Amino acid sequence: MTVVLFCMIFSSSVAGAEPPARFEFAETHMGSEFRIVLYSPDGGLARRAARAAFDRIAGLDAALSDYNPESELMRLCDRAGGPPVPVSPDLFSILQRSKALYERSGGAFDVTVGPAVRQWRRARRDRKMPTAENLARARSLTSSELMHLDPAARTVRLEKDGMKLDLGGIAKGWASDAAIGVLKEQGVTSALVAGAGDIVVSGPPPGEPGWVVGVAPLEDPGETPERYFSLRDAAVSTSGDAERFVEIDGRRYAHIVDPRTALGVVERGSVTVVSKDGGTSDALATAVFVLGPERGLALVEATPGAACLYVRKADGVVTAVESARMSGVPRAAPGELEGPAARLVPR
Ligand code: ADP
Ligand code: MG
Repeated sequence: MTVVLFCMIFSSSVAGAEPPARFEFAETHMGSEFRIVLYSPDGGLARRAARAAFDRIAGLDAALSDYNPESELMRLCDRAGGPPVPVSPDLFSILQRSKALYERSGGAFDVTVGPAVRQWRRARRDRKMPTAENLARARSLTSSELMHLDPAARTVRLEKDGMKLDLGGIAKGWASDAAIGVLKEQGVTSALVAGAGDIVVSGPPPGEPGWVVGVAPLEDPGETPERYFSLRDAAVSTSGDAERFVEIDGRRYAHIVDPRTALGVVERGSVTVVSKDGGTSDALATAVFVLGPERGLALVEATPGAACLYVRKADGVVTAVESARMSGVPRAAPGELEGPAARLVPR
């Protein structure tokens, strides 16, 4: 009897010593492809953990989407101009984080930019400039000063009728972060979650110092990356005008809007931010793109743990500037890219 028991324990401990295998999963959420790459010695655990992580992302999508009129976010916007509305803890904390960055960025990051974002979506579709009247209306509805958050009651009051919130600049990084949290709860500690250009990683792949992430070139995002970082327990996001923009009368307007003018940003650039969490890297990259290299980099320097690479094209010349902490982010050699998931495409 004793011997049998011994054997059972012995064999199960051998099974536990299986080397971790690589698993990769992909699903579409928030209008983007989310990928999960993870290492686990147990295929069943890997699949269950990925399922739980995607379910968390889907739940956040259902709450935070500005495309779905039934989302919690859009139902909140339907009540703009009215009394305070109680909201879920997820929605409240993402709005709280957004408003904090609004303040720190001097208004460059502003989730009340929804009316202007809608104008520019239509402009991209019709290739026509929004009218001056529509832009003026969008400006009058845009300011996070008009978004009142009450932490004690966990309510949100949107001061003006017609206000629209848009979490497109923070939701994917935030959701990737949440997914990494779920994977950890499930016992997966070596993982990468990528929501398009927003990537969050936990512990490194076995035997490696970190996950290798490549920053796609500004002018040809499909080409081989020029820069590679090796990241662990970190987040990285890229923002820019590479993929979603409209050209009108020779000017190129990005899908990122300057909240003060309600105009699409006309800078040609890509901003890559590395930080401790996905909500910060995502929102900060968007903010820096609005602020431009000088003020943007100053904001990054003032954000604990954040680093930034800003590549821009001006007068036909591509230049890159880096914030001070970028020199502390480990570089990796090309050719070690951890699958397509780890390719950051500026957009
Ligand atoms: P992507 O969605 O391509 O990853 P970003 O993270 O930079 O890029 O987010 C851009 C999105 O953020 C826009 O499509 C819009 O929904 C929203 N947005 C645009 N301008 C701003 C802004 N000034 N502040 C906050 N969010 C913005
Ligand atoms: Mg962003």
